[in-house]
Amino acid sequence: MKYRYAEMVWSEIKEAAQQERVAVLPVGTHEDHGLHLPVDADVLICTEICERAVAQIPAEAVLVPPVIHGYSPHHMDFPGPITISWDTFIKYVKDVCCSLAHHDFKRILMVNGHGSNTAPLELAARQSIIEYEGKILCALVNHWEIRKAKEMGNKLRESDHGGVSHAGEYETSIYLALKPDLLDMNKAVDERSPLPPSFQADLLLGANPEGSAAHLMPYWSSMTESGVRGDATKASVEKGKNFLEAAIEGLIELIREFKVTKILPRKKH
Ligand SMILES: [Zn+2]
Repeated sequence: MKYRYAEMVWSEIKEAAQQERVAVLPVGTHEDHGLHLPVDADVLICTEICERAVAQIPAEAVLVPPVIHGYSPHHMDFPGPITISWDTFIKYVKDVCCSLAHHDFKRILMVNGHGSNTAPLELAARQSIIEYEGKILCALVNHWEIRKAKEMGNKLRESDHGGVSHAGEYETSIYLALKPDLLDMNKAVDERSPLPPSFQADLLLGANPEGSAAHLMPYWSSMTESGVRGDATKASVEKGKNFLEAAIEGLIELIREFKVTKILPRKKH
């Protein structure tokens, strides 16, 4: 059974929508990830998680081609990032979702691989629902926030708070499990956020318990010399395989939960 949207003919897409399969849309960006990790880390990781999850449940979901460029203006002091203006990005992703809705997909799940995409993607998801007057559901999950991924990540990690951030232990491990030949682990470093505790975030542990969960994003080049924020030196293929497996299982669980989520009618009060 086909599960890749791009490989279907139009009648198969119509059928997939009629079967109320969940449209799974990976979203990433291309940006610097230190000297050890390629710029496609966010795209590769979230696309692979989606690909492997949807492949296991083709009757329940379809894999939409990924959105490969995202919102990274604060990274532009490093060579490599391709950034899309925030409003263009929101409108672009909303147009992708609304096209799927136009073809009768009722449930669209974006799986995001880049932290700074989160805020614009949440707006794109909400605006898609508004555009379709509540007749569709459009949701967003960051892959590191999938329940099983988070549990496995925190179980196996060796770095303390802040070690699992941009290009740190988690992303580097997963990339190692996917394409080991493209990494240069001799260049992996442990570089941490210079900001006070209230402005530090760890992908898997969230806010630093010694501070408040405030949001602040200065220019990346003001915070890191290598482009890494986290501990890439603790990464391993073995951990990466486990992280990946947990994320795939967790995403399948989430897709199934979303598939049976009722689209409740609006009521004019
Ligand atoms: Zn990343």
